[in-house]
Amino acid sequence: MNSCFLYHAWGLYTHECTCEEYKGNRIILHVQTKERVRCCLSCGSSSIVKNGYCLRDFVGLPIGGKRVTIRMKAQRYKCKECDFYQQEKIPFATGSCSYTHRFAKYVVDLLRGMTLQDVSNHLGVSWDTVKEIHSSYLKRHYSPPSLDGVENIGIDEFAVRKGHVYKTIVVDLDTGRVIYVGAGKGTDALAGFWRKVRRKNLKIKHVATDLSAAFIASVMENCPDAIHVFDHFHVVKLMNEKLDDIRRKVYSMEKDTNKRKVLKGTRYLLLGNGADIFDKQHRTRLENALAMNEPLSKAYYLKEQLRQI
Ligand SMILES: [Zn+2]
Repeated sequence: MNSCFLYHAWGLYTHECTCEEYKGNRIILHVQTKERVRCCLSCGSSSIVKNGYCLRDFVGLPIGGKRVTIRMKAQRYKCKECDFYQQEKIPFATGSCSYTHRFAKYVVDLLRGMTLQDVSNHLGVSWDTVKEIHSSYLKRHYSPPSLDGVENIGIDEFAVRKGHVYKTIVVDLDTGRVIYVGAGKGTDALAGFWRKVRRKNLKIKHVATDLSAAFIASVMENCPDAIHVFDHFHVVKLMNEKLDDIRRKVYSMEKDTNKRKVLKGTRYLLLGNGADIFDKQHRTRLENALAMNEPLSKAYYLKEQLRQI
């Protein structure tokens, strides 16, 4: 078989095909390396000699509706200087796996829309092989992230399944990686994370959360030396609630109907971002309301200052 075809169809670029066999629904390609090993892996000597070979079978990508087995003649070598035995490297498969990298990738692609059993039936390999490929893919891509060097974290909770289930996540703020996901919300959801922090002896410097009492208690108990940063949005929201209380009190205490008219409907002007009021009428109305009442105006400007932080 043409080396070019071997390369493009199966990615074997340093190999040649010595023979092809056609057995029912199966094609067996006998391949061997074109290059020989030049030096000993142990001592670096170039005095190495061939010392037998072993035949290894690998499941390759199917072609033309036929299963493909790549039968590799893996050469063994012996070093004349240090008696070290070595086998040539097989670049298209990992360790003792009996399938090629390309085949494993194909299985993972199929599993995005098919079950393990479907893929096993479709490709004619055992369910265990499909499962093994999938597990090693998941392990490689989704194993728990390392916490080494983590100093600044953000904690938040979110709802899944239409609010029936909660998850609490911890993010490394320097890299943006999610480093922990706890089931539920509140202090219990973070217990596992703090255990990891203690085990790794991490020094957390900054923690950012919202104003949830559970988060505050959890951070105070588990990393009391860290600076606890509260989300800007939540702090301004608290201030706005107080400002709205004052506005309502001022309105209910005002006897003068003209002044009441000015105060009425100023809620959105007071609570919004002052810099965003471009409408001249709105601005005059807000200024009139503030000029009429000192506590309200004091609270409003404090809120605007807080927003600048
Ligand atoms: Zn050697």
